[in-house]
Amino acid sequence: MKSGDNYDVIIIGGSYAGLAAAMSLGRSLRRVLIIDAGKPCNRQTPHSHNFITHDGDKPAAIAAAAKAEVLKYASVRYREGAVTAVTPLPGGFTVHTEVGESFESTKLVFATGLKDNMPAIPGFAACWGISVIHCPYCHGYEVRNVPTGILANGNMGYEFVKLISNWTKDLTIFTNGTPDFTEEQLSRFKKHHINIIDKPITAFNHQNGQINTISFADNSELPVTAIYARPPFTQGCELINTLGCELTESGLLKTDIFQRTTVPGVYACGDNMTMGRSVAQAVATGTMAGAFVNKDLIELFF
Ligand code: FAD
Ligand code: MG
Repeated sequence: MKSGDNYDVIIIGGSYAGLAAAMSLGRSLRRVLIIDAGKPCNRQTPHSHNFITHDGDKPAAIAAAAKAEVLKYASVRYREGAVTAVTPLPGGFTVHTEVGESFESTKLVFATGLKDNMPAIPGFAACWGISVIHCPYCHGYEVRNVPTGILANGNMGYEFVKLISNWTKDLTIFTNGTPDFTEEQLSRFKKHHINIIDKPITAFNHQNGQINTISFADNSELPVTAIYARPPFTQGCELINTLGCELTESGLLKTDIFQRTTVPGVYACGDNMTMGRSVAQAVATGTMAGAFVNKDLIELFF
């Protein structure tokens, strides 16, 4: 592989979604280049759950097994590093990397994930994915029935609390400021003995990412074993904006059921386009993207 090489498909992002797309495409005899910057969103989490055949494995081990399988297909190539620019060509695209290389392809797949933007609470980022978690299907079983906090507020917070009450009855809501719940929501919390603490949070105190206590502005502390939180996210790769791909109201890439974005020749799969953020969903949408890129290439040249 050298700069200037031409491919049927370039896949930007080589984690679960990108590797799944590459599997479908390699098996379709397509010349594929995967370019990956190596920063999957779950990289800090010790164990990944709820993906059959890999339940409880290390996130990196799942990706490494996938990569080894995919690279057995002779027409699939892999390059480490970030894509820094994408230029449309007549009938394709040029992709530029951070080390000044460029490659051409007929189709482009964005499997670039999302970025979780950590709140400014000291300790939050260090605990992220370890004891501060976002998804009960991924981690709820491991922290079932333990004293649990939920950093949340408003209607979304209410729905989050209701969901998590399935895994533990020992729940406290931390609003980190004025609570914003209806009378009806407050009476449900009361019925289920769920406390609300509205004091401003000053720190999550932890040891190697395992939270022990929360500190508040009034110098008090409260013990806790796990926290659920859903920090705001942004797209993992800004190049979708320069290409003009449309986003949904919630900030995900808009695709049709065949993983095509609103820009012809550009596809998306994985976290960047799906609400159901999971390895299984990344693999499912990636597999679909690969198949429909191949189908569209057949339509183009048959
Ligand atoms: P990602 O895995 O995030 O990978 C995106 C890749 O694209 C990265 O390697 C990134 O470096 C690359 N990239 C982005 N931009 C560029 C660029 N310009 N050039 C080159 N490469 C680029 N799911 C589960 O099923 N079970 C779990 O237990 C679980 N735990 C989780 C824990 C945490 C803390 C988080 C945040 C998520 C967890 N998830 C879990 C969700 C799961 O990690 C995601 O759904 C999954 O990683 C999505 O895969 P993806 O390939 O779409 O994106
Ligand atoms: Mg190979």
